[in-house]
Amino acid sequence: MPEFDLIDRIRARVAPREDVILGIGDDAALLQVPAGMQLAVSMDTLNAGVHFPHDTAPADIGWKALAVNLSDLAAMGAQPAWCTLSLSLPEPDSEWLDRFLDGFLALASRHDVALVGGDTTRGPLSISVTVHGFVVADAALRRNAARVGDDVWVSGTLGDAAAALALWSGRASTADTTDHAAIGEASAHGNDDVQQQLHAWLRSRLDRPEPRLEVGRALSGLAHAAIDVSDGLLADLAHVCAASNVGVELQLQSLPMSPVLRASFDEEQAHGFQASGGDDYELCFTAPVSARDRIWHLRGETGVTLTRIGSITEGGGVRVRDANGQLWRPARSGYEHFGAGR
Ligand code: ADP
Ligand code: MG
Repeated sequence: MPEFDLIDRIRARVAPREDVILGIGDDAALLQVPAGMQLAVSMDTLNAGVHFPHDTAPADIGWKALAVNLSDLAAMGAQPAWCTLSLSLPEPDSEWLDRFLDGFLALASRHDVALVGGDTTRGPLSISVTVHGFVVADAALRRNAARVGDDVWVSGTLGDAAAALALWSGRASTADTTDHAAIGEASAHGNDDVQQQLHAWLRSRLDRPEPRLEVGRALSGLAHAAIDVSDGLLADLAHVCAASNVGVELQLQSLPMSPVLRASFDEEQAHGFQASGGDDYELCFTAPVSARDRIWHLRGETGVTLTRIGSITEGGGVRVRDANGQLWRPARSGYEHFGAGR
């Protein structure tokens, strides 16, 4: 199947948007940016065997390729609008493409993102996506805006994706559990074996991250700095510290942990995944103490848990304190990704 047949297949399934003057099919797309808005643009690439395991389902690859990009827009407080897709495929495989699009377009339609162009080539499996979104002029959430005294918050739970990756690669194994909260959460994955249910739930956190767009938009004008957690909480917060010229102190016991992670690993290992695992695609943000009530309300409005995990200090880098107030360090320092580094 030649390349243009694949492009036709993509084009046939793409949903329109009013501000797409010209989409797939010409030499370039023509897009209308609303007056008074700034364009936020971000790009991320997923390489097979580096950013996702080779056994990842095509629909999950499609979902994740868009999700990691939308997560960057969420961290800027932007409203997504358009995306482009560069596909490098070993074979022009229409069956694979259809499944890939199932995942990619499901997420696109959920957030009203139009696919407006791209590139299709032959080569090792690799997917690059560029997303475009709108922010009110000068209201984007930037890494350099954290202030001393700010609270540090994070959305959702941390460490689940890293745990899934560690299980997949054989670097970790789970304990037997009779924890009912965990079993209840995981049982939606419809597997008779409790261990396998827990693993499937963790794996879904790795394969199908939910970009926190609604939270990000609501934080615009409320939060100071924001970043999405892709390389691990400590590594990503270090970027905020460097850009804002501040430090941060976190409470280890405050890091939000899913019941599944809590039930499946010993505490120290689970904390390691939370602090430096990566692939969470949760939002970490700083906000003044005076914003606590409004942030608390956001939880009800968005359905996403928001947890206060520490505060911004005058320098000193990223520090974590355990339950006894002692400085804590993850056993495995830094970020360890699937296969090779990235
Ligand atoms: P050109 O040779 O002019 O660069 P292409 O043949 O690469 O054009 O692409 C033709 C049209 O199909 C363009 O509008 C391009 O944006 C679109 N396109 C190509 N590959 C993809 C893809 N993977 N996803 C979405 N649109 C694509
Ligand atoms: Mg051309």
